[in-house]
Amino acid sequence: MKYKFCPVCGRRLEEKFSWDEGGVPYCQYDDMMFFDIPKPCIMVAIIKNDEILLLKQSYIYENSKVLLTGYVGNNETAEEAVVREVKEEAGIEIENIRYISSDYVKDKEILMINFVADFVSGEIIKSTEVEGMGWTKLSNALNEMKDDVIGTKVVKKVLEMRE
Ligand SMILES: [Zn+2]
Repeated sequence: MKYKFCPVCGRRLEEKFSWDEGGVPYCQYDDMMFFDIPKPCIMVAIIKNDEILLLKQSYIYENSKVLLTGYVGNNETAEEAVVREVKEEAGIEIENIRYISSDYVKDKEILMINFVADFVSGEIIKSTEVEGMGWTKLSNALNEMKDDVIGTKVVKKVLEMRE
């Protein structure tokens, strides 16, 4: 998103030249530059033996399940966001968080940072924001998440890693 007005004070931004970034929208009043940058988001494939945690969110995909996702907050790392989001949305503990890949979601201006993690403990207590959630056999996961393009790529990587 290219900022035209200052999100802090509402004044019209001017262009300031940063030697490595070119012209960047700038608020003289707040002395801040507002870069055109994506929102960082995490996606995580949680593995429990030969099963994987899939979510059903009809507002995202009517007929497809998805991997758990969430925004990275201020003052946290992507790995900390993974632990926090999994705890908030699923109520379970995970460990051994490993980076897999990243993807850019153009229409949402999201940088999706993809991880795989191992289940440790806990019964699933899904957040009220989640419609459905459960363990699915890894061997069948790809059949259930056809519309989740990024999730499918992540699960394929996970399957390769387990070979
Ligand atoms: Zn301002």
